[in-house]
Amino acid sequence: MARQFEGSELIVASLNPGKVREIGELLADFGVKPISAGELGLPEPVEDGDTFIANAEIKAIAAATAAGKIALSDDSGFAVDALNGDPGIFSARWAGPGKDFSVAMQAVKDKLEEGGQPIPTPASFICALCLAWPDGHTESFEGKVTGQFVWPARGEKGFGYDPVFEAEGMDITFAEMEPSEKHAISHRADAFRQLIDACFKGA
Ligand code: IMP
Repeated sequence: MARQFEGSELIVASLNPGKVREIGELLADFGVKPISAGELGLPEPVEDGDTFIANAEIKAIAAATAAGKIALSDDSGFAVDALNGDPGIFSARWAGPGKDFSVAMQAVKDKLEEGGQPIPTPASFICALCLAWPDGHTESFEGKVTGQFVWPARGEKGFGYDPVFEAEGMDITFAEMEPSEKHAISHRADAFRQLIDACFKGA
C-alpha cells in the first residue's frame, strides 16, 4: 500500500502560481493547504531526468528535503508516437526562448513531414506526479490521455499543444473544448485520480 499523506501543509514544488492554486483546488477536499516552493524561496533543482517521473521526483525530493515537509511536483508534456515520444520531456523547450507554442507545434508538423509520416498521427499528453517525504520516500504516478496530433492547429481556449491534439473519440481539439470538459479527461486529471486514490483516501 502507498504511504498516506498526513497533516495539512503540502509544499507544491512549482514557481507557477496558477499551478499551485489549481493543485490546491484539486486537493481541497482532503484539508490540504498548499504552500508554493517559490514563496519559501526553495532552490530550483536541475531537471536532468530522462522521463517525466524522474523529473517530477527530482523536483519533489529537492523541495521536501529543503523544507522538511511533504512536497508534490508535476512534470508534463506532449508525446508523438511516430517521433519516438518527442517533444516529450522537452515539450516546453521546443517553444524556444520566446515560449511560442506556434513554433513548437510547427516543429512537430515539420518533423513528421520530414519523416514521411501521415497526419493525423497517434499522440498523447502525459502528466507525472510525485509526492515526496522529507525522508526521501516517494510515491509517483503517471497519467495519460491518448489521441492524435492533427494539423492545422484549431481553437483558442487552451495552452501549449492543445490546438493540435484531439483526444480519442473526439473531433474537436483540446483548445476547442470548454476547460471543464478538458479537465475531466486530461492527463492531469488521470494522474490526480491515481494520486488521490493511493495517498489521500486514508487507510
Ligand atoms: P510543465 O510540466 O508545466 O513544465 O509543462 C511542460 C510543457 O508541456 C508545457 O509547457 C506545455 O507545452 C506542455 N503541456 C503540458 N500539459 C499540457 C496541456 O494540458 N495542454 C497543452 N500543453 C501541455
